[in-house]
Amino acid sequence: MSHSGPFVDTAILANIRRIGGDPLLNKIIRLFLDLAPEKIKAAYEGEKNGDLEAVERSVHSLRSSAATIGAPILYELCGTLERLSAENKRDQVAELLCALKESFQDVKMCLEKEKIDLSMKKIMVVEDNPDNRLLVRAILEERYEITECENGLQAIEALKQVTPDLVILDISLPGMDGLEVLSRIRADQNMKDLPVIALTAHAMVGDREKFLLDGFDDYVAKPILDENVLLSVIEQRLAESE
Ligand code: MN
Repeated sequence: MSHSGPFVDTAILANIRRIGGDPLLNKIIRLFLDLAPEKIKAAYEGEKNGDLEAVERSVHSLRSSAATIGAPILYELCGTLERLSAENKRDQVAELLCALKESFQDVKMCLEKEKIDLSMKKIMVVEDNPDNRLLVRAILEERYEITECENGLQAIEALKQVTPDLVILDISLPGMDGLEVLSRIRADQNMKDLPVIALTAHAMVGDREKFLLDGFDDYVAKPILDENVLLSVIEQRLAESE
């Protein structure tokens, strides 16, 4: 979330993302963009029919949504419109409704720019044990787009089709082991900087330096007892590779 303008407070968006990741942020943005035009339309119709209570209800609801999404100018406008409607100042309400419509367009433009950055990051999980694949998927699938491979050869083939943003790679694999898969990834010019996290049986974990020397970016020990360890390692590596 690099840009921030007067129309959208990106700190608020970042907080929504912190709570529920990209899927939640996407859903909330989509809901806002779907519902706000209906509320604005209802406010216009209320004014046209001289029903300022209807205007007040609509802008009150829109104001709450503007707060959730972090749209300060829209929020202020709704507050002013609410007050003017309550005071029955129809001319001023009519005038300000035009500004409200424009302000929503500005917010919409900013949010759509954010949405472009919101596609889920892709993670490839290479692990021969279905139990572990299921566990890793359960931890990650709300936040990332997951592809699963059961062995090294399958992973190498899949990597020719789509390059993920990060790979979680089991070391002990039938046939081609994790180290061999890693060395093939590193030999490929397009993937030499691809973050690869070793997934290793606890018994194999001894020397963090060893995994880093082998060319892994990090490692996570199996069994995964604390999902936050895996999530934070992934987040760190993705942030560094941006
Ligand atoms: Mn294995």
